[in-house]
Amino acid sequence: MSAVKKVLIVGGGIGGLCAAIALRRQQIAVDLVEIKAEWTVYGVGIIQQCNVVREMAHLGVLERYLNAAYAFEDVAIYDAEGKQLARIPGQRAAGPQYPVNIGISRLALHRVLSETATELGTRITLGHTIEAFSQDADGVDVRLSNGQSGRYDLVIGADGLFSKVRSMLFGDRYQPRFTGQSVWRHNFPRAPAIDHLATYVGPDGNAGLVPLADNLMYLFVTSHEPDNPWFDADQLATQMRERLRGFGGLIGQLREQITDARQVVYKPMEVVFVDEPWFQGRVLLIGDAAHATTPHLGQGAGMAIEDAIVLADLLRRDEALPTLLQEFMNRRLERCRFISEESILAGEREMARDHAFDRAGQVRRMMAVTAQPVV
Ligand SMILES: Cc1cc2nc3c(=O)[nH]c(=O)nc-3n(C[C@H](O)[C@H](O)[C@H](O)COP(=O)(O)OP(=O)(O)OC[C@H]3O[C@@H](n4cnc5c(N)ncnc54)[C@H](O)[C@@H]3O)c2cc1C
Repeated sequence: MSAVKKVLIVGGGIGGLCAAIALRRQQIAVDLVEIKAEWTVYGVGIIQQCNVVREMAHLGVLERYLNAAYAFEDVAIYDAEGKQLARIPGQRAAGPQYPVNIGISRLALHRVLSETATELGTRITLGHTIEAFSQDADGVDVRLSNGQSGRYDLVIGADGLFSKVRSMLFGDRYQPRFTGQSVWRHNFPRAPAIDHLATYVGPDGNAGLVPLADNLMYLFVTSHEPDNPWFDADQLATQMRERLRGFGGLIGQLREQITDARQVVYKPMEVVFVDEPWFQGRVLLIGDAAHATTPHLGQGAGMAIEDAIVLADLLRRDEALPTLLQEFMNRRLERCRFISEESILAGEREMARDHAFDRAGQVRRMMAVTAQPVV
């Protein structure tokens, strides 16, 4: 057993919550500070692949997770009118017992993870953040924005793309970069035909329909927005319909139902990759704080979850923390770099309208890499 007995996690998103669950299961004391006073997430969905399902089993939440999700196997590619171009049958690469893919609403995922972390005894502080820390060889002294202070064996920065912990470690060396693309999302009742991930190749960007539950799916469309424009909130429905102008079939029918701007979730794609050890002393970054990428391979959250699992696995060992954190880097750096770079590449090829780009081959390579177990 490592000497790590008490941990502070900064950020209660997907990575932070998975870290809290994994560490609590090893009887490590966990404090978690989340900046949002109202601890919720936006209401569209997320695709998770078999490597994530496998890690949900490691976290001991598989049944709860699958009950809240929609399991599916295949991915199909259609043209803009809805004519099927290809159907890629799912392969249960993580083992026959795990579904190939899951669609899950972010709200449902947050509920599963936050309830489990709380039940396991994570001490959660909402509406605050880390204010300052100083460390020595044996621990980290931390002050929170509510004035509370504590001493920890390890501090985990799981505070996402705009990580404050990253700035505290590296100053302004790593700033999120806009890739030139944005994504527009909207929930709908699930159409019976959408029992798989359906992607549609459009003239200017790609659209997709993702099943999230028996009665829920979400529509996304990517768009090239070279100047990273700012849109008034009340314009979002009109703008999303505009981005879907080139689509017919089911996507065309759904486009006409996008009338309420409040139901549209708009997100410019921003990326960051920390290209050196993600730790200094006893303070470590995981998830988007260290390696936020674009959603093209549907693996960003997957990498955050794997970070949490690998870290908890290492902290079982009775070895010095610097050795364990270096091994964490050895096990995570190249896998996360691969997902990060390939996701960005897919977006660049989309923006260049490079129809010769072997996207299916890229997805197959990604599936082969992520099928490899992390623990
Ligand atoms: C459009 C889009 C679609 C995506 N689709 C997929 C997909 O289908 N599949 C997939 O695997 N991934 C997907 N991703 C990526 C995925 O959402 C992220 O990789 C994942 O959320 C990262 O988890 P995280 O815990 O590291 O960060 P986050 O989920 O961003 O969580 C960070 C948490 O820290 C909190 N926080 C921030 N600052 C502070 C602070 N100073 N103090 C305390 N708390 C703080 C935040 O409020 C938040 O709760 C997508 C991303 C985007 C943008």
